[in-house]
Amino acid sequence: MKQRSFGPKAVPVAVIGEGTWNMERDDRKDAVAAIRRALDLGATHIDTAEMYGQGQVERLVGEAIAGRRAEAFLVSKVLPMNATRHGTVAACERSLKRLGTDYLDCYLLHWPGSHPLEETFRAFADLEQAGKIRSFGVSNFDASEIRKAVRVAGSRRIAQNQVLYHLGERRIEHEVIPCCQEEGIAVVAYSPFGSGDFPSVRDKGGRVLAAIADAHGATRFQVALAFLTRQSDVFAIPKASRSAHVEDNVRAADLVLTESEVGAIDEAFPRGPRRRGVPLL
Ligand code: NAP
Repeated sequence: MKQRSFGPKAVPVAVIGEGTWNMERDDRKDAVAAIRRALDLGATHIDTAEMYGQGQVERLVGEAIAGRRAEAFLVSKVLPMNATRHGTVAACERSLKRLGTDYLDCYLLHWPGSHPLEETFRAFADLEQAGKIRSFGVSNFDASEIRKAVRVAGSRRIAQNQVLYHLGERRIEHEVIPCCQEEGIAVVAYSPFGSGDFPSVRDKGGRVLAAIADAHGATRFQVALAFLTRQSDVFAIPKASRSAHVEDNVRAADLVLTESEVGAIDEAFPRGPRRRGVPLL
């Protein structure tokens, strides 16, 4: 699996990872097997959150990575309502317990909330010092929020901004990606398949993807992932509870689109106008 330098510490991380939102609704055995398959194939960036299934998904991830912790680049998130200095530390400790590990590779603030960022980041610093997290980041931050977060972080560095990015929602290309690139922050694309709302071959865009996929002996989903991760600081975390889907997604890391294919996708799924804020699901 292709890896890229991730965030200011330049840790090598798999370009395509594995999301876990809503996995508690899927067949547990399949979901655990899919995460293990992702590890087998080097899609080691495993994304979860205390919010997912109210802790059930972290337990499921814990079961999947048991005995294989060192292989994973494990990310979890604190809910904004818990993100005070003490609340963040307590939430992280609960997550670690559910995940059956003593550290996270990256810990994120799930979205901007009402508690001062200074407090959340102080807690992240405490957790880093205690060896409970190796890096920290944010999610759903727009460019102005990123700039503010960088000021608040000071000498401590933000590793990633996890944001909504799929073919039907390319708003982050205007400001968020360039701003993160300037600050050395990795951009992690969540819901890269539109969270289940993937372009159909009945539509023009879907047919464009299908033609490109045919030319490469690939699938439309792989073409979408190759397009979204075409920029060097962008990673993607598709969620797959089926091992066959994991295998498909992993292969996308080796798919390189030609300039004209990128142009055709760009035309079929336009970036749209510049708008304020970040898109949310
Ligand atoms: P997604 O990855 O856009 O789509 C998931 C759906 O695509 C599932 O139904 C999955 O099926 C299917 N799928 C996966 N690989 C496929 C393939 N190769 N071919 C066909 N279908 C495929 O949805 P998402 O869960 O919303 O987003 C991904 C991850 O991003 C989440 O799981 C979560 O970790 C993260 N996320 C973060 C935030 C945030 O606020 N930070 C918000 C949303 C999501 P199966 O499961 O049946 O395999």
